[in-house]
Amino acid sequence: MKRHNRRKFHGSLAGGVALALAVGGCAGGGSAGEDGGGRVGSVPTTQRAAPTGTPTATPDVGANWHRWGLKPLPAPPGPPADRPVKLSATGAVPVISRIPTSQKVVFITVDDGAEKDPEFIAMMRDLRIPITMFLTDDAIKSDYTYFRHLQALGNHIQNHTLHHPAMNTVPLTRQREEVCGNQKVLTEQYGTAPLLFRPPYGAYNADTRTAVGECGPRAIVWWRESMQITNMQYQAADRKLRPGDIILAHFRGPEELKGTTMTEMFASLLKRIQEQGFTVARLEDYVQPPAA
Ligand SMILES: [Zn+2]
Repeated sequence: MKRHNRRKFHGSLAGGVALALAVGGCAGGGSAGEDGGGRVGSVPTTQRAAPTGTPTATPDVGANWHRWGLKPLPAPPGPPADRPVKLSATGAVPVISRIPTSQKVVFITVDDGAEKDPEFIAMMRDLRIPITMFLTDDAIKSDYTYFRHLQALGNHIQNHTLHHPAMNTVPLTRQREEVCGNQKVLTEQYGTAPLLFRPPYGAYNADTRTAVGECGPRAIVWWRESMQITNMQYQAADRKLRPGDIILAHFRGPEELKGTTMTEMFASLLKRIQEQGFTVARLEDYVQPPAA
């Protein structure tokens, strides 16, 4: 497998895998480290919760959103006491592309990890939008720390293989190496074993479910919408979000987005969600891990 440059995170599906539904799936990435100029932390910090005992110090949420050309999304409802997706420690891992809920919430997942724009960390500090990161080691190993800043905001890091193959084109042994290997790296780097797995390009087969189950994650997470540059691709013919939909986006920069930055893409994503009357909740709040 070629692993000398960023092309591996681009579109062509290995082996010509026909995945009509996976258009855009994990086909992004690139420009790793090019703008990683160490500006993390030098940007304006957000005003989040007011310090206790200072009731007049209301956080200026609106200003934080306005800075990114946005109006605030509604605060999501609190995490459900009874999480609608319950994972089992044994048996075949389920494949999830939406969460059963009647709340007008959607979930944002961001894949690969090639683009490491410090402005995106600043944006996430300001907006506090929950994201779930499905990271692939090849894309992140140049700068594991970048994702620690996003993790520190409460966002979870999940498994997306070591080398980003189309899993249904490689044998079980290789699939096992991809999932278990990345599980080990992510656990070591981020201190928590991933609970969820996303197959590159959305491509999986029965061996993938076996490998995932053996390596630790307890569910495969698919998606219902895929964010492009300014608009989403929908699986639903009516091109509308539905409660509980999982949205796929990528860590992508101007090279992959025709000059658009990661933060501009993400702002467009939030606008598409907002204009349909939805807000964003945290995926992991709706997923019950197996009982210990
Ligand atoms: Zn991917």
